Parts: sequence; C-alpha cells; structure tokens
Amino acid sequence: MTKAEFPTATQPLAAPALGEPYLLTPGPLTTSKATKEAMLRDWGSWDGAFNLVTAEVRQELLSMAGVQDDSFACVPLQGSGSFSVEAALATAIPRDGKCLILMNGAYGQRAAKTLDYLGRAYLTLDKGDYLPPQPDEVDALLKANPDVTNVFLVHCETSSGILNPLREIADVVKAHGKSLIVDAMSSFGAVPLTINEIPFDVLVSSANKCIEGIPGFGFVIIRRTVLEAAKGRAHSLALDIYEQWLYMERTGQWRFTPPTHSVVAFRTALEQHASEGGVAGRLARYTRNRDVLVAGMREMGFKTLLEDRWLSPIITTFFSPEHPNFEFKRFYEELKSRSFVIYPGKLTQAESFRIGCIGQIDEHIVRQLLRAIGDSLEAMGVDMEQTTA
Ligand SMILES: *Cc1c(COP(=O)(O)O)cnc(C)c1O
Repeated sequence: MTKAEFPTATQPLAAPALGEPYLLTPGPLTTSKATKEAMLRDWGSWDGAFNLVTAEVRQELLSMAGVQDDSFACVPLQGSGSFSVEAALATAIPRDGKCLILMNGAYGQRAAKTLDYLGRAYLTLDKGDYLPPQPDEVDALLKANPDVTNVFLVHCETSSGILNPLREIADVVKAHGKSLIVDAMSSFGAVPLTINEIPFDVLVSSANKCIEGIPGFGFVIIRRTVLEAAKGRAHSLALDIYEQWLYMERTGQWRFTPPTHSVVAFRTALEQHASEGGVAGRLARYTRNRDVLVAGMREMGFKTLLEDRWLSPIITTFFSPEHPNFEFKRFYEELKSRSFVIYPGKLTQAESFRIGCIGQIDEHIVRQLLRAIGDSLEAMGVDMEQTTA
C-alpha cells in the first residue's frame, strides 16, 4: 500500500470481512485486508525467498528501535509474546543474577511467575493496579540492593492501559549500571522507543500488537554483548535466544519450524506501518482513537480508571457502571452483535472493562462503537444517569 492509498482520518478504514466484528482487543486485533491476503501462499521454511523475508523483518525492527550499527541483534521466536518474554528473561539474567521487577499489573506479575519457574532470584516493587513505579523509588531500591543485576519494566501495562514512565526509569537504571529489560509488547511500533532515547539492553515485543500483524511469534531486540555472554544460560532448549540467534546468523533460517504465514503477513504489516508514517503516524491515529473514545465515553457518564496523564494510546480501562442491570457478559454480547469485541477488565479490585485503540480502526469506527455502546446500554436497560460510578 502506498502512502496515498492509506486511509486518512476523513476516509474510514474498510470494515473487516462481512460478519466479522472489529477486535478492540490489544492483540489479536483487526488486521488489514492486505495483511490477511499476504497469507494466501505457502512457503518452505528453508527456502531462500522466505529467509529473505525473515532477514528483512529483523532489519526493519532494528531500525524501528533506532539501532544503526551491529551493537544489537533482533531475534524472532515462535510462540506468543510470553514465550519471548520468558526466553528473554532466561537469556538476559545470569543464573546467579537478581532482577528487580517493577510491577503494576498482570504482565509484571507474569514476569515474576516466570522467574519462579526459571529459578532466578528477584525482588519486586508492586504498585497495585493503577499507579506507576516512580524513578526515585527505583533509585532507592537499587541503592539498597546492590546485588540486583537487571531491572524489568512493562512499558504499557496492558492490564490497566497505563503508560509507565520508561524514560525516567531507564535513566535511573543506567546511572546504577544495571541492565534494563523492557516488555514493550503492547507499545513498540506506536510509542517511540529508540536506543538513543532509552538506554535498554533488552526489548521484547510481538507480531500481533501495534505493528498489526497476526499472532505467531515475538521478537527480542538485545544488546550483542548481553547476547554473547548468554551461551548456556537458558533453562530451555526451545526458549533459548542465544541459540536461536546463533542458528539464524549461521543459516538465515529459524531453528525450528517458523510460523511462515505469520512472518510474511508481518512483513506486509511493516510496509503499511511505514506508509502510514512509521511510529509517529501510528501514534497519531491511535491517540486520536483514544481521545475520541475517552471523550465519548465520559459524555455518556463512564469513568476511566486512570488519570489523563497516565492514559496510553493503546487500551483504556473503564469502570463498569454501578447499575443493577449492568452485567459485563451481557454488555459484551450486545456489543458483539453490533460488530465490536471488547475485553473484560483485569483489575484485582473494581469491576471494569477495557477497550483497545489499536489495530485497523480509526476515529470513524470509534464513533460507530460509541453509538453501539449507547444502543447496548439502552437494550440492557442501563440508564447512565441513575448510576453511581
Ligand atoms: C500481550 C502482552 C504480553 C504477551 O502476551 P501473550 O498473550 O503471551 O502474547 C506481554 N506483555 C504485555 C505488556 C502484553 O500486552
């Protein structure tokens, strides 16, 4: 797709195939027709043409992270995003190392659980559901725990939608000479994250979030010195980023069966990302989606979990209205019958639901969604003027 062909804000994006709902869920999400069509062909895993696609994708991802030399490598890995997080943790944290996990939601908690399985030592800063870890807290913890080797931070904590203060925390981690691992799963490609701005050692993301590919693999962008020190460190044969990298460097191939269709779809998704104006273009569209969504929801009487300054352009959590007729399951079904799929909440305390702003959707579709939400509430007999939340 060329730049001129990419739908602008005044021209709605094409609807998904007839009968398919929009996925307002942060991966899998609604993909473009071109991305789906890229999958209408079979590829041999050792074939030169496929290996070229893999090489192109790896190079593009490095450029997106602002890498201009060979100080970093991009290592794709089969599986969902969590497979890549697990592999990255196993590769980057020395067996006798200790990780500080900055936690404010499900994905920070998952990292801790992963380290339990890996048998790596860690400590946590747990901020609950909706508060960001603060740079001075990280500073104090690193001062008090000089044996910490790595710090793990989720950039956008998708369970609440909070965009954590990555830059400020990265600077603190660097000042202490520690190695930063960023779970940028749901932000990479839409929120600027380049090595000249953010001093990270490891960044993890996946195919089916802001780059708008389909599920099938994740990728780890990792400092070469960290990678080269990691031989024999992983606990797992398949989840070994060092071995995956070595094999790819030597042969140009994936070590085990690659998700071929997902990789070629991803290349097409990357082309569309570039023609939309790269990270800046995508950020602009998602931000507009979020702004229209939040304004429209507030107008109806909904409240966001987060204060405005922590709202990400990726996904937003809304409190469920306190009304006897409101029930999430019914709300979900009403919206689905109107062609929109949303996400349940992931908070430990309050009842909530989440709406994603990412994927092939624009502000016109968000406005359709707002109408569908109004109609669904009416169908359920929920009068927002009678709610307390
Ligand atoms: C999606 C996501 C993951 C990975 O989840 P999978 O279901 O394994 O793909 C990890 N971290 C964050 C912040 C995410 O949004």
